[in-house]
Amino acid sequence: IRKNGHLEYFHPTAKLDDIGGLDNLKAWLNRRRKAFTQNAKDFGLEYPRGVLLLGLPGTGKSLAAKAVANAWQLPLLRLDMGRIYGGIVGQSEANMRQALQLAEALSPSILWVDEIEKGLSGMQSSGSSDGGTTARVLGSFLTWMQEKEKPVFVVATANNISQLPPELLRKGRVDEIFFVDLPGLNDRQEIIQIHLRNRNRVDEFTEQEIGKLATKSQGFTGAELEEAIKESMFVAFDEGVDLTAEHISGAILNTSPLSKTMHELIDT
Ligand code: ATP
Repeated sequence: IRKNGHLEYFHPTAKLDDIGGLDNLKAWLNRRRKAFTQNAKDFGLEYPRGVLLLGLPGTGKSLAAKAVANAWQLPLLRLDMGRIYGGIVGQSEANMRQALQLAEALSPSILWVDEIEKGLSGMQSSGSSDGGTTARVLGSFLTWMQEKEKPVFVVATANNISQLPPELLRKGRVDEIFFVDLPGLNDRQEIIQIHLRNRNRVDEFTEQEIGKLATKSQGFTGAELEEAIKESMFVAFDEGVDLTAEHISGAILNTSPLSKTMHELIDT
């Protein structure tokens, strides 16, 4: 990983199979893969422009950005929109220009624009008195999205829908918008399986046990499920025994998922 403030360049190892649930997104990405080739261009197809992933933290949006780069065997450039602003006058615009130029120089490539709402909402710096910087950065990004000729596929991720500029949602900017929701029962089962598999533990559990754990973890995000599994492994290791479904179940019971906490805050 090479890091340069707002830019990060890497070849991720996560695969699309490492994402539990998000079936529509995975199928859509698989279909677009073929279109991202010279053959498709010669056939008369345009390169796919990109996708916008909206949803709660910890639901797999970043994982999807990494997995698509790996699945398509393309380099991934991450642009951290929360860090693009600042410095001397004109620096923010230069940062954006640099990111787009680098993505094109690396093309075919994936440009992951992380927390896009942070950079384009027009609400950062000091409210409206940023001298038009946000508008210029937004304008240059949107124009580039519409006019880019090089095969740069944009994966934009955002938690806060209300801060997104409407221009981004207009036709012609991204090909598709996906709302990434809390995982359902089957998705949670898949996510638990994935994280047990990642830790070489999946064969030690029956499907029924995993099903029960999925039932008990309603309201959990993928990240919270992963945390519960990690926590249960600490406990098992501490006890000097093998990991069991009871350990994981205990960790799930001890976790208060963010979704529940938010409901409680709203109710009180
Ligand atoms: P944020 O908006 O906070 O960046 P995010 O939606 O991008 O959140 P991730 O960073 O992808 O969430 O999730 C954190 C970690 O949680 C992932 O690296 C992965 O290990 C696990 N995780 C989250 N969602 C899933 C999922 N659907 N399947 C498998 N693992 C998941």
